[in-house]
Amino acid sequence: MPKPRPGVLEIAAYVGGESHAPGAQRLIRLASNESALGPSPRAIEAYGRVAGEIHRYPDGGSAQLRQALALRHGIDAGHIVCGNGSDDVLTLLAKAYAGEGDEVLYTVHGFLVYPIAARAAGATPVAVPERGLIADVDALLARVTPATRIVFLANPNNPTGSYLPDAEVVRLHAGLPEDVLLVLDAAYAEFADAPDYSAGHELVERAGNVVVTRTFSKIYGLGGLRLGWAHCSSAVADVLNRLRGPFNVNAAVQAAGMAALADTGFLDAARQHNRTWRAWLGARLAELGLTVHPSAANFVLVTFPGGAADAEAARQYLKAQGILVRQMGAYHLPAALRISIGREDEMQAVVDGLAGYLDQK
Ligand SMILES: *Cc1c(COP(=O)(O)O)cnc(C)c1O
Repeated sequence: MPKPRPGVLEIAAYVGGESHAPGAQRLIRLASNESALGPSPRAIEAYGRVAGEIHRYPDGGSAQLRQALALRHGIDAGHIVCGNGSDDVLTLLAKAYAGEGDEVLYTVHGFLVYPIAARAAGATPVAVPERGLIADVDALLARVTPATRIVFLANPNNPTGSYLPDAEVVRLHAGLPEDVLLVLDAAYAEFADAPDYSAGHELVERAGNVVVTRTFSKIYGLGGLRLGWAHCSSAVADVLNRLRGPFNVNAAVQAAGMAALADTGFLDAARQHNRTWRAWLGARLAELGLTVHPSAANFVLVTFPGGAADAEAARQYLKAQGILVRQMGAYHLPAALRISIGREDEMQAVVDGLAGYLDQK
């Protein structure tokens, strides 16, 4: 039998959030951090306009889209590479910069795509302890060896919702050897409103070994279309452009992405909605006696007093009512559930559901 490369069969395939609740009369999806408000109407319209042209290949370099992103972020379009979701970009970075015998660091409660990308490249993922569900710069630096090639840091992190202040990210970068790539995954950057937070674009511009990745899957509500991008040095962009699929970003998502980017009013509304309902949900869940971890993203991580069995019973109770939230066992947080911020009625329903669960326990 043909055999895959070493490491491939050690990959635990990524399991997404549940999207069905058989038997329930309604469906409230709070398991995948999808946008509460959906996509901008302008993005939907732009998507539709492409329909008559789908026999044409897309612009393989996503030039117009990169130009729009460059203008928005005040960076050079030549320092941007687009991908089929940021997963695509993260996987390409691992393939480009790590291989057999190399180590890829990520934090123990970090996004599961990092160890998958590392193994897919043949490298060894190394999970580094966090402190109080926050990435620990000293612990990360202590795990760096001559074999370390990449450090992946989600900032804010999924699923903990915590973030590292800019000064800590700068300190992490300063402690890394120059030939180690620091990948700052800023999928939730738009939701982070603390004054000491930064997505890291300035660091990319002044250091050759930093990449920031961004996505249209979260605040822009285009997860179904797949669009992410990397901000990196010209040298890293050159590497990614050699490795990526020549048409890795389709025409529909290029059009929808540009329209979504232009709709700044919708973006502000989504950010404001998240700020309001993240605070509201956190306060209600705390009143119910649950431990709510501070979140800089569009979800909250909630720990149950009775541990893993309690969290799982609560999840099943909600699911029977058609409310889907995320199980956290794969992230080594089995006593917790992750709940995405949804619409007002959805937030009310999940609080009522958990109150009901705690009452009958
Ligand atoms: C959701 C998420 C992404 C986005 O992935 P896409 O492939 O762009 O949909 C990236 N990183 C983290 C940490 C996420 O939670």
